[in-house]
Amino acid sequence: MGSILCHLPLLPHDGVPMISPVPKADIPNPADGQIVMVKDDIWWIRMPLPFRLNHVNLYVLRAQDGLTVIDTGIYSKQTGDIWQRLLLAAPFTDYAIRRILITHHHPDHIGYAADLAEMTGAEVLMSQIEYEKSNLLTKMDDDAFANMMFSRYQGYGLGDDALSALTERGNHYREKIEELGAVRYIAAGDTLSGLHGDWQLRCDRGHSDDHIGIYDPARRIFLSGDFLLPRITPNIASPLGSSPDDMLGHYFGYLADMLTWGDDWLVLPGHDWAFHAVSTRAGNLITHHQDRLTQLLDRADQGPITVKDAMDTLFAMELNEHERYFASGEAHAHLYHLVQQKAMIAETASDGVTRYHLA
Ligand SMILES: [Zn+2]
Repeated sequence: MGSILCHLPLLPHDGVPMISPVPKADIPNPADGQIVMVKDDIWWIRMPLPFRLNHVNLYVLRAQDGLTVIDTGIYSKQTGDIWQRLLLAAPFTDYAIRRILITHHHPDHIGYAADLAEMTGAEVLMSQIEYEKSNLLTKMDDDAFANMMFSRYQGYGLGDDALSALTERGNHYREKIEELGAVRYIAAGDTLSGLHGDWQLRCDRGHSDDHIGIYDPARRIFLSGDFLLPRITPNIASPLGSSPDDMLGHYFGYLADMLTWGDDWLVLPGHDWAFHAVSTRAGNLITHHQDRLTQLLDRADQGPITVKDAMDTLFAMELNEHERYFASGEAHAHLYHLVQQKAMIAETASDGVTRYHLA
């Protein structure tokens, strides 16, 4: 069985410029399974993942009444062992964990939340939309999940190999997460108490449905989750289990906002290293996605294309099932955006496959 990951690392492809990463901020990176102090009220944990993207960053924020943990790692024995060890040392021996805030429903962020809540007695905070999405996907049995993916892939024009791999794979979402009990809902505009004043919460749509970002405008510190990363481009795909939506359009909106922030923040992201260049990175990501839209329009200039054709254009390499999941979602999100922009028209034929042609 495979596993879900929430990013598609930039795949090499002739003619597609790789986005150069933005430089690291001058703060120490923790080693795998280790915690480092970033400020007197912020700690950073690097939690290993058994995927090509081999870690997720978790953070700990201190308030007057104790600690808030931001994200948890996937549900696995390795994650549990690391948490058991970390909880025996500072800051956890000095202050109680009061809250666990989950940025979004992807398994590397939410997976261990139920167990960590049980170990610590902390309450879990989440966006209602992200919580409901996680519940929906967790409760699907293997057949229901495979059926959902089957109709998605069929519409994309993927062949029999891709379709039969789905039945083998079943529900890859719930492999890496333990179902959550009660949570307290948080929303955009809410605040989270901190040691040096309140943190502000924002919700954004694009990489996931209603992702929480946490920032302190006075100190210009931003916990960006998976929406702004220094090296990889966050996967943008139509949401699973709900009607299609222009996720790339939403993400462009987010990136446009980030263009106004400037490059003097300390960004603590969900993966890779801390950095400062918010607006530079946002600008690079906008260019990257616009280049991909242009490639698809050029391809469609030769005739109608399916999502499979768009995948071949954007990701000209052999893809395993795991990579196919992300590449197909990403290709569809770009075509869907072009339809919303009235640059393309989508038509579904009697074979169930949707084809996109220039408007
Ligand atoms: Zn994610």
